[in-house]
Amino acid sequence: MQIKLTFKKISLSFAAILILFCVYFLYPPAYPEITFPDGKKFAFTIVDDTDNAILENIKPVYEFLDELGLRTTKTVWVLPSNDTSQWANRGACLCDSAYTAYILDLQSRGFEIALHGARGGDSKRGEIIPAFEKYKETFGAYPNIHINHAVNTDNLYWGEDKFSFYPFKLLYRWMFSNKKYYGHVPGSEYFWGDLVRDYVTYVVNFSFYDINLLKINPSFPYFNPDKPYVNYWFHSSEGADVYRMNELLTKENVDRLEEEGGVCLVYTHLARDFYKDDSLNATFRKHMKYLASKEGWFVPASEILDYLRLHREGERTLSFREKTRLEIIWLYEKLIHGSS
Ligand SMILES: [Zn+2]
Repeated sequence: MQIKLTFKKISLSFAAILILFCVYFLYPPAYPEITFPDGKKFAFTIVDDTDNAILENIKPVYEFLDELGLRTTKTVWVLPSNDTSQWANRGACLCDSAYTAYILDLQSRGFEIALHGARGGDSKRGEIIPAFEKYKETFGAYPNIHINHAVNTDNLYWGEDKFSFYPFKLLYRWMFSNKKYYGHVPGSEYFWGDLVRDYVTYVVNFSFYDINLLKINPSFPYFNPDKPYVNYWFHSSEGADVYRMNELLTKENVDRLEEEGGVCLVYTHLARDFYKDDSLNATFRKHMKYLASKEGWFVPASEILDYLRLHREGERTLSFREKTRLEIIWLYEKLIHGSS
């Protein structure tokens, strides 16, 4: 009887601590009110991961975005893949002159070009430095944004190192992957964190299922002292392929983004079924036309991030509570949906 009572007390105490933990970390932080340039009511852009991109599957999508008046961010690879057995590593790079000419044309029309690592596949420092220089020669400046790719060993703060809270690192290792990444590890042959620190302003970390990122992470973009080679982090809304993008950009969600005066940077792969069987996905076309009819600020990711960083008061670092809250939400969404 005594043992049973003690067990009950311990269980109740544990449940109470868990509830307090959840309330403390999951209670939404204050939501900032933001005004946008030219009286626009919200900000929206697309950050396109270049996996599988070739001229044939991305050009019709970009021509459509251009017609709508949207200016978005497209990542590129500099070098050809050294491991095309991984499906995600396939796609064009700056080694293809016709592809490069089109990307330069997009840049001249106001689209932002960003880096997706040196290539689809691992690259060592000795290859990354010339690739970084080739990027600058091609586009006239170093990339403002870098996005880690899949399982490239040269990714920075990737895998379990996405997290700051140590128990979550262990949980990630146990549940998803124990692969290590070395882009931020000085002395490693994959290290290039110093280039990112010196020349790149923004790196993306988590993707979330909310269309309004300000509700998830009011303080972005932010510096994380635990990850000093990245100047500023930002997060994105999950739209990995055309199907997820279409789920994100429903009329209800777009109306809410406008009502809330929110910010949405969708992370996607525009080469994944947006243009298929010689036509653009009809639902995507409909959603984008509706979105473009709104009073949104449709500029590339760096322009939105610079604006948020330079026109808002306050610290550009996160509190422990906000940082941990982000990590809890992302882990939960990854378990439920498999977020990026
Ligand atoms: Zn990728």
